[in-house]
Amino acid sequence: MPRALALLLVLAACRSAPRLDLTGHELVDLSHSYSAATLYWPTSPSAFELKPLHVGPTPAGFFYSAYTFATPEHGGTHLDAPVHFDSLGVSVERIPLNRLVGPAVVLDVSAKAAADPDYRLSPADIEAFEAEHGAIAPGTIVLLRTGWSSRWGDRKAYFGDDTPNDASKLHFPGYGVEAARLLVEERQVAALGVDSPSVDYGPSQDFPVHRLGAPRGVPNFENLTGLDRLPSTGAVVVALPMKIEGGSGAPLRAIALVPVRPAN
Ligand SMILES: [Zn+2]
Repeated sequence: MPRALALLLVLAACRSAPRLDLTGHELVDLSHSYSAATLYWPTSPSAFELKPLHVGPTPAGFFYSAYTFATPEHGGTHLDAPVHFDSLGVSVERIPLNRLVGPAVVLDVSAKAAADPDYRLSPADIEAFEAEHGAIAPGTIVLLRTGWSSRWGDRKAYFGDDTPNDASKLHFPGYGVEAARLLVEERQVAALGVDSPSVDYGPSQDFPVHRLGAPRGVPNFENLTGLDRLPSTGAVVVALPMKIEGGSGAPLRAIALVPVRPAN
């Protein structure tokens, strides 16, 4: 089934009108805001900067504010383009929109991650999800809910270590490479998202999940939030990065449209 048709069917599933009706959906923000407190990878040379160009009254008497900002691509809620880990992969502005907008499933490993900060999604987790909810369809945006977004803002709790400029002692959950292979190669999902710092878990030093998805055109959404507010199936995600030409990644504003059940 073409992705556009699948999207329409998802949107129409809980409404009789076969068109997008936003009054039938709750809008959920899946992005953290950017500020001086935004967390970046431990080895990042800089963080988010916002500097005023002008804030206050103008000579003509009206108020005016404008700022300049700077940020490394890979910090806060952001997108990884395929070229991040594949020299032949597309950069941010060339990612097809149907990998950024589409029906989503939420795989919840938050209980397992609470018991093991190095937890990785397994093929068995996917099989258990599909036994309950049906097979994950091609073109689906997969969101891995680890619960880590509740730790956002606390570097040591979020990354598992806060040694400056050292990424060798990190602990947080992510995708296992065999689970990622099942999702990317067999289910042909559109994108992989996670509410932890990386689709590869903290101890990884060779980033196999990034290296698996990138040559297959799969973008990643990292440092998401709000996944606890989404159903396992039925939400539609809109994840639009800043359109940086040639970029390997970009700040990402992601939202979800969640169907509201009509009151009986
Ligand atoms: Zn990244």
